[in-house]
Amino acid sequence: MQSREIRMTKIAFIGLGNMGGGMCANLVKAGHTVAAFDLNAEAVNAVAAKGARAAASVADAVKDADVVVSMLPAGKHVLGVYFGPDGVSSHAKRGTLLIDCSTIAVTDAREAHVQADLSGLIMVDAPVSGGVAAADAGTLTFMVGGTAKAFGKAEQVLKDMGKNIFHAGGSGNGQAAKIANNMLLGISMIGTCEAFNLAEKLGLDAETFYKISSVSSGQCWSMTSYCPAPGPVPTSPANRDYKPGFAVAMMLKDLRLAADAARAVRAEIRLGEHAESIYQSLSDKGQDGLDFSGVMKDVKGEIPRP
Ligand code: NAD
Repeated sequence: MQSREIRMTKIAFIGLGNMGGGMCANLVKAGHTVAAFDLNAEAVNAVAAKGARAAASVADAVKDADVVVSMLPAGKHVLGVYFGPDGVSSHAKRGTLLIDCSTIAVTDAREAHVQADLSGLIMVDAPVSGGVAAADAGTLTFMVGGTAKAFGKAEQVLKDMGKNIFHAGGSGNGQAAKIANNMLLGISMIGTCEAFNLAEKLGLDAETFYKISSVSSGQCWSMTSYCPAPGPVPTSPANRDYKPGFAVAMMLKDLRLAADAARAVRAEIRLGEHAESIYQSLSDKGQDGLDFSGVMKDVKGEIPRP
């Protein structure tokens, strides 16, 4: 086990939204010295109340940092924060480790790795699986892309925010693992909704079908951990009128990233594209804020056009 002195790191945390707020608080809890920045002052104040230093800018946050962690909405924010005018690369010390945990395009992540290298910085892409509850609890899964040496440097900080840390390979491979996984999740959720609806229309209630299918060959995470039919899994959003959880807008973002990446490498994803069109139609019907398992309502014809 490493000593406390080695474990304590000067960290800059940028992007303190739904996910980043809890992740930042967990780094403080683990004993790191954390300087936090977000464009939203309220988000900064919330983590300052938990022991982070409120930084006035990206420059102020990263000036003394050994490690920069970011949790931002999309690739353009990540590239802007790190390599744009007055960004991280203009103010961080050479050799600083950059850990971007946002979900962004594989191409944007690989571009960030190249730019980090040119700036004398070390980068890993480290997107997460697990939502806001896992971010708050420190139980996220991290999928990490970068060199073995960079992964080794990032691992302890990631362990302070998560439970499962995987080295997925070279630059961008963390993002590749993330979007392939979430494409499968989107597809399996739609299939699970259709199966429960079909079973019900043929005369089986949700509990009976669950008992059978959850130990038969149709079993999957979407069914046993996040069942889209109310009843069988009490913690699933289906039991609170599909309040997220993981919203339709988030799933649609990930399916678009998967489709873009698939086009770039000519991978056939017929079901992935179909899943994207189904979530797009939910979004068109004004359901961006519905949990992604709420596709069940659409399958049942319960969502009217706006
Ligand atoms: P969010 O919108 O709640 O938070 C993003 C934060 O970034 C906001 O507070 C925003 O003010 C800040 N920000 C934007 N541009 C900035 C800039 N230039 N400088 C400083 N701060 C800036 O989003 P979130 O739900 O926390 O998601 C963050 C990332 O995590 C996304 O890439 C998302 O796809 C991914 N993700 C989210 C979930 C989830 O359940 N919410 C799960 C897995 C992965």
